[in-house]
Amino acid sequence: MKVTIAGAGMAGLVAAVRLRELGHEPRVLEKGTRPGGSMLLSSCVVWRHIEWARFRAECPGGDEQLQRLIWERLGDGLRWLESLGAEPVWLDTENPLTTGRRYEPRTLTRLLVEAAGEVELEAPLPTDAEPPVLLATGGFPGRLARERGLLLRANPWSDGDGLDFGVAFGAASTAGMDEFYGRVMPAPPARIREADFVPLAQLYGREARVFTDDWREITPPQVAWHENDLAQLIGPRAWYVVTETNERIEAARAAGATIDQREEGVAVHVAAAVTHTIGGLQVDTRARVAGADGLWAAGVDAGGVATGGYASGLAQALVLGLAAAESIASG
Ligand SMILES: Cc1cc2nc3c(=O)[nH]c(=O)nc-3n(C[C@H](O)[C@H](O)[C@H](O)COP(=O)(O)OP(=O)(O)OC[C@H]3O[C@@H](n4cnc5c(N)ncnc54)[C@H](O)[C@@H]3O)c2cc1C
Repeated sequence: MKVTIAGAGMAGLVAAVRLRELGHEPRVLEKGTRPGGSMLLSSCVVWRHIEWARFRAECPGGDEQLQRLIWERLGDGLRWLESLGAEPVWLDTENPLTTGRRYEPRTLTRLLVEAAGEVELEAPLPTDAEPPVLLATGGFPGRLARERGLLLRANPWSDGDGLDFGVAFGAASTAGMDEFYGRVMPAPPARIREADFVPLAQLYGREARVFTDDWREITPPQVAWHENDLAQLIGPRAWYVVTETNERIEAARAAGATIDQREEGVAVHVAAAVTHTIGGLQVDTRARVAGADGLWAAGVDAGGVATGGYASGLAQALVLGLAAAESIASG
C-alpha cells in the first residue's frame, strides 16, 4: 500500500518505522530543512500522569478514550522505542506526579530517521495528495502565535497544514482550538534562539506576582505545577515580579530582556510562547480522522487530548503514531 506521511517529527517518524516493521514502504514528506520537528528542540521527556484520575482532573475537557489509550499504551510505546535501540537518559521524569522516560532528542531523532528509511526534506504535503495519508504536521502553533501576537516556541514549519488538509477533506475539528501548551518567555527585545527555548523559560511563575503592561495585578489564586495556565493567562506581554533575582532571570537579562527594579520587586517583562496547539483534528483510538475516510492524524495534529490542561505531546505522538501505523497496515 502506498502511504504518505506528512511530517517527520515524533509522530510521523514513529509511524514510518512501525509501518516498515509491518512490511510497508511509506513515503515520508517533511516541509522543513531537517527532520525531528519540535521533538528535536524539546526536553524529550515522554510522560504520562501516574494516576489516571489526575490525568482526567488536569485535562477535563479532553477525549476520555484517547486519554485512556495514551495512559494505557505509553509503557508499550516506550518499550518499543527501546527495542529500536533508544537509550533513556533518565529512567523517570523527576516529577512525583508523572512517569516516563527522558531521551536525548538529537540521538532519538537520528535513530528514528535511520529506521524510517528516506525522509524527503523541503517537501510539503501536496494539497492533492491521494489517501491513505497520515497527517503528522505538528498542529498550528505558528498560526496561533501570529493570530494572538504571541511568541513561537516550536519548529518554524508547523503552521496548520495538516489541519487545513483534513478540513478540506471533510474532517471534524475538536474543542479547544484556542488552547495551547506553552511557556512564559522573556519578551522582546530578548533574543531567543531555538537552543534557548528550554533554558530561557521563565519557570518561576508560581512564586511571582503577575502584572499587565499597564500595571494591574492579575496574579491568579493558584498556579498549576506546569505553569501552562499562566502562559494561557498572560498573553502577548506581562510582567513577572519576584522579591529577588534567580538563575532564569539572569539568563533572561543576558539575552537582552527588559528587567526593572520596581517598588514590588524585580520585574521581568515576559510573553507567552506557543509550543503546540491543543485542539486539532478529531480522531478515534485508531487515529482515524472523523469524517475523512483515508486520513489518519497523529501527534498534535490530533486534537482534544489535553483540552483544559496539559499533557505530554511526545507521549501523544508516540502512542498515536503507533496506533495510526497499525490501523493503516490492517487495511
Ligand atoms: C522547547 C520544547 C520543549 C518541549 N519539551 C517537551 C517535553 O519534555 N515533553 C513532551 O512531551 N513534549 C515536549 N515538547 C512538545 C513536543 O516536542 C511536541 O508535542 C511533539 O514534538 C509533537 O510531535 P508531532 O510529531 O506532533 O510534531 P513535531 O515533532 O513538531 O513534528 C511535526 C513535523 O511536521 C512538519 N510539517 C509541518 N507542516 C508540514 C507539511 N505541510 N508537510 C510535511 N511536513 C510538515 C514539521 O516541519 C515538523 O517536522 C517540547 C517542545 C519544545 C519546542
